[in-house]
Amino acid sequence: MNIPIALDRSRLDAALAATQRGYDLLIDGNWRKAADGGVLTRASPAHGVTVSTYARAGAVEVEAALAAARRAFDEGPWPQLTGAERSKLLLNVASLIERDAELLATLDVLESGKPIAQARTEIAGAADIWRYAAALARDLHGESYRTLGPSKLGVVVREPIGVVSIITPWNFPFLIVSQKLPFALAAGCTAVVKPSELTSASTLYLGRLLLEVGLPRGVVNILVGEGPDVGAPLTADPRVDMVSFTGSTRVGKAAMAAASASLKKVSMELGGKNPQIVFPDADLDAALDAVVFGAYFNAGECCNAGSRIILHESIAGDFLAAASTRAAAVPVGDPLDPDAKVGAVITPIHLEQIERHVEGARSAGAEVVLGGRRLVSLAGQFMAPTIVSGVKPAMAIAREEIFGPVLLVLTFRTMAEAIAIANDSAYGLSASVWSRDFDTCLTVSRGVRAGTVWVNTFMDGAAELPFGGTKQSGLGRELGRNAVADYTEEKTLHFHTGPRTARWLPIRQSGAA
Ligand code: NAD
Repeated sequence: MNIPIALDRSRLDAALAATQRGYDLLIDGNWRKAADGGVLTRASPAHGVTVSTYARAGAVEVEAALAAARRAFDEGPWPQLTGAERSKLLLNVASLIERDAELLATLDVLESGKPIAQARTEIAGAADIWRYAAALARDLHGESYRTLGPSKLGVVVREPIGVVSIITPWNFPFLIVSQKLPFALAAGCTAVVKPSELTSASTLYLGRLLLEVGLPRGVVNILVGEGPDVGAPLTADPRVDMVSFTGSTRVGKAAMAAASASLKKVSMELGGKNPQIVFPDADLDAALDAVVFGAYFNAGECCNAGSRIILHESIAGDFLAAASTRAAAVPVGDPLDPDAKVGAVITPIHLEQIERHVEGARSAGAEVVLGGRRLVSLAGQFMAPTIVSGVKPAMAIAREEIFGPVLLVLTFRTMAEAIAIANDSAYGLSASVWSRDFDTCLTVSRGVRAGTVWVNTFMDGAAELPFGGTKQSGLGRELGRNAVADYTEEKTLHFHTGPRTARWLPIRQSGAA
């Protein structure tokens, strides 16, 4: 059983001293309180103390933010700036993110419960994404066709799509807004951003950085509030041209339905139930490390969590025993401790749901090999790293996204069976395959329906590579070289050059037109 890292009051005091507690809403270049005086508070899931108080947006603030974003798009100057000008501003944001990286990481730790070492990596990754978007801002271009005849030229230009609603979840607060906003800005769009009400602080802090670099007023507006009050109107309002949403499949479907009323473009990054398939000829030591990492990283609260382990039956027993030993050694506890690998779970309700999933699997005949319960020795919401074996593909635990540190073990005999089990899911976000045989790797990676397949590695990412899901894991891709183009619309220009020879109505001899 894991020996927890005890909470350290002095670390918490230092983190609280380094960060602010109260936040207003960013609307039209100004920080505003809610008209009705409403506030939301957020307690650290690890420490139980209040760490943030936000102005809580309502209908008045949603209206003001949408009007500001629309005005900033329709009247400019942001969409009319050159790519070089927008790029320079994005580069400056990246530098400020790096300047304030420790503070941003601390905000995410205090609100999400994720380990500080991991949060630092996420902030560094976010700064890198802002730089990548800055580079793409200068490369946004269309196409031309001189193949239409000597008196014709076809030109396809890319124009910013308009006002974008950006709605993000709580599990990677700063990283996910950074996978969307810099690309929307690079395209020349304006935005209303709604972070999760559980982890809004780092996104609001980003608003300060945007003002510091001189982003024109109204280009980015940031609202804090609950989904039905703020997220829903941002998906339905006809002034919004595109909805870029990351969150659960359930809410994503509702957001898409709302967006359909005015036929907005949607980009959906949704849930996952990702398989890791391990063949007997794999580097089993590396596979074990990746399996443990994939299941417990971010306390399993990760769309990419590789929680469905599909083992060849010849190695299942030994692999499971070794995975249990490693899982029991994962350092769980105070997320402000640099040695912590697993921190707290986001809310008490979510912790109960994770425990219920495990109990459900036990009742359905699976075996809980490790953990299965919260770590009661720690204040706050901590779940013990858990392993459930003897899982059958039809069991709920093998099909539903658990979003907790729970590793499930299924077994296979043939490659075809492994692919079939991997694909037996409503989701299709990511997958991984472990084998030293090239044919096995290629066949499995082609056969598995997923937006990303890792081959002898796990959860690697790069701003250059597109990311997104198939099936009910999403619609569209983020990152990659088309990431800015995603926030544009194509416009076709037909040019005629020289005298017009072909007329619809023939010229009359009398000379009348
Ligand atoms: P969630 O769907 O509950 O909430 C996401 C966001 O939507 C929040 O800001 C929330 O306030 C808002 N929202 C809630 N109701 C809304 C409504 N009716 N209309 C518009 N917005 C509304 O998700 P969560 O619990 O914050 O995050 C966890 C989920 O996110 C998991 O399912 C996870 O797999 C998914 N996720 C996916 C990716 C990806 O890239 N595919 C990345 C991270 C998280």
